Amino acid sequence: GPAFLEVRDLNVHFPTEDGLVKAVDGLSFTLRRGQTLGIVGESGSGKSVTSLALLGLHKRPDKRGRGGARIRGEIRLDGEDLVAAPPERLETLRGEKLAMVFQDPMSAMHPYYTVGEQIAEAFLVHNRASKAVARKRAIEMLDRVGIPQPDARVDDFPHQFSGGMRQRAMIAMALVCNPQLLIADEPTTALDVTVQAQILDLMRDLQQEFNSALIVITHDLGVVAELADDIMVMYAGKAVEYGPAKAVFTDPEHPYTWGLLGSMPRLDRAVQERLLPIPGNPPSLINVPSGCAFHPRCGYAQMAGGHCRNEVPQLVDNGQGTLVSCHLWPQQRRGLFAEHIAPKL
Ligand code: SF4
Ligand code: MG
Repeated sequence: GPAFLEVRDLNVHFPTEDGLVKAVDGLSFTLRRGQTLGIVGESGSGKSVTSLALLGLHKRPDKRGRGGARIRGEIRLDGEDLVAAPPERLETLRGEKLAMVFQDPMSAMHPYYTVGEQIAEAFLVHNRASKAVARKRAIEMLDRVGIPQPDARVDDFPHQFSGGMRQRAMIAMALVCNPQLLIADEPTTALDVTVQAQILDLMRDLQQEFNSALIVITHDLGVVAELADDIMVMYAGKAVEYGPAKAVFTDPEHPYTWGLLGSMPRLDRAVQERLLPIPGNPPSLINVPSGCAFHPRCGYAQMAGGHCRNEVPQLVDNGQGTLVSCHLWPQQRRGLFAEHIAPKL
């Protein structure tokens, strides 16, 4: 059947006094229900901007076209185009079909309301029910996300929860209306490694139970290595490598993906050294480098002649179901990875 989420040639551009910020530039991907997509990249790669576009949360330009985000392309959810949808419709969809788990539950939850009140409120926005029913539902959800003694903890305030418990409560709030698409932006960054693993396990269980589509956004390839079915690596607003998670993780072909893999913190070492740090910084999205946007940081640009500076590489199937945008030949990339990168990881 058709994909549950279909994004086609999405552009999210922000007009500013310094020029047009092309935060997302020609992005396409699809997702089925029950499937998980990991979107990976450094900050400024466009991954969070993409998730806010899916949720319809960007401010739109005023009547004179000033300010806000210019969004072009298609975001089809269950066939419905969200780019064209009016704000009221998007508000209804958020909660009914779409929900988001944010990076920092402390800033996303209200400090003066109890955890239970906030979950109940999220439920009541989209469901006709009594307060008692909503409270019961909040307790059920807290139980479902693994909060011990939920009928007592439901009356706690957010600051009475540990960081991991707040993240669980956020997930409960996101899932209370049974959304079909759940977006988690850096869901575990603030948590220690053990709690991170528990939260990721929980998200995987709930996703399977609810048969929802899940998008996990992260700067850390390790977070999505096991959780995701597909991985899309973004750089400067574009996908540079997009394919099955196993292939992207074990046989990556884009030099930027190699850099991300090499800069993953290694938990097995006393010092969390980064083995192959990527030199330089992500580019300004106002003056994106010509040709391949990664070329100023890429150690292989010379090998592809002058193409890297001058021609934008297209996202092309490598013959094995992974899309890669790089001027090097697939065989060349595989050879480089096997000989120079893999041995260092
Ligand atoms: Fe590096 Fe060139 Fe490939 Fe870009 S196109 S990743 S600069 S080799
Ligand atoms: Mg971000």
